[in-house]
Amino acid sequence: MFDVADEIDRYLQRLFPLCRSITGGPNRETLGILQEIVPLTIHEVPSGTKVYDWVIPDEWTVRDAWIADKSGQRIVDFKANNLHIVSYSIPIDSTMHWEELKPHIHKHPQLPDAIPYRTSYYQRKWGFCVTDAQYQQLANHTEPLIVMVDTDLKPGSLSYGEYLLPGDSKQEILISCYICHPSMANDSLSGVLLTAFLARQLARTKQRKWSYRFIFVPETIGAIAYCAINKEIMKAIDIGLVITTVGGPGPYGYKQSYDHSHPINKLIEEVLNESGENFLTYPFDIHGSDERQYSSQGFRINTATICRDRYYEYPFYHTSLDNLEYVTASQINETLIIYCQLIQKLELRCIYRNCIPYCEVMLSKHNLYPATGGSQRPELESKSDLDIILWLLHYCDGKEDITSIASRIGLQEKDLKQILDLLVSKNILEEV
Ligand code: ZN
Repeated sequence: MFDVADEIDRYLQRLFPLCRSITGGPNRETLGILQEIVPLTIHEVPSGTKVYDWVIPDEWTVRDAWIADKSGQRIVDFKANNLHIVSYSIPIDSTMHWEELKPHIHKHPQLPDAIPYRTSYYQRKWGFCVTDAQYQQLANHTEPLIVMVDTDLKPGSLSYGEYLLPGDSKQEILISCYICHPSMANDSLSGVLLTAFLARQLARTKQRKWSYRFIFVPETIGAIAYCAINKEIMKAIDIGLVITTVGGPGPYGYKQSYDHSHPINKLIEEVLNESGENFLTYPFDIHGSDERQYSSQGFRINTATICRDRYYEYPFYHTSLDNLEYVTASQINETLIIYCQLIQKLELRCIYRNCIPYCEVMLSKHNLYPATGGSQRPELESKSDLDIILWLLHYCDGKEDITSIASRIGLQEKDLKQILDLLVSKNILEEV
């Protein structure tokens, strides 16, 4: 299998420091850098646009943010780590005592060295996130502290990237990742890079059965905006994959789509079993990432996720310790290979439907039955062409794929090819 870890690493180094949010310049810069990997189209949705029950918010810009003592010595500094500022903080330029400042300061309940990640997209607030040591330093300060948040919230737009790779079929597979997290490596960024490299890899294949639509959106509001603006496109989407948290050192896991019997779940299990790695199975849950939108009643797209150290689960989730020491490019590359194998399985997957499902097909009418009746006594182990036809008509229900049917019959998929083609040519089977 291919190894693009060196390239992934160079992009991790460039993209990790950008202070992304649900809108803003660093998101555009991120999409611009991703265009070096894959020719994304960048779309802008203006602030104030109604998207289903939501409205695109004003655009957020952060220039600087700090808390300093009266000598100007910075105790907390956005320039040292962009997680120090609560995302979407409104501007403030003030001097205050610790008691007044305290409600605006967040620290991690378990990890003293971590800066937690906090947001306030829809409530106009300001705040800082700090380590335990910084918290103590601020709390011990008896003199007033200088607080500066140099931000803007103004009408602008929400940016997202899109790339369509057409295949033989107009049916599409949606591959979605989110670009809205600032400096964290496993949550968001690992998925963004895996998605971009998966798109590039797939674009290099000569022929594709399915069409693939890659989207790079801010989580929740971006996915909702995409669905609202692209209602018609969404109708052609058959299956979804949300790619996130794919670069940790821990175990693989996969979150099932809302219908656990859907073939995408079975294919993912096959790929993970074949990889020889242990993996965790997370049943569908209403919490999670943008599968929440794609699985909603209006769309009901079966959307699954393969991850490695899944969101919510790893201790550094939503903290500054989810960094480039925790995540490596080779770990992302390994998960990329798993996704490529899944796509290969999706491409090879053939499903047929018996067009005459009620009672038996009159095979003689279609020249599929031996000319003289009465002499055939079925043999249990027989795999005559007639037996294969009968088994195919029994199993091909438009749901089960041919790989799985072949193994039920005790044959290889290739042994069925000629008979499948024959039954299709006689309009008895059709590929779905
Ligand atoms: Zn997150």
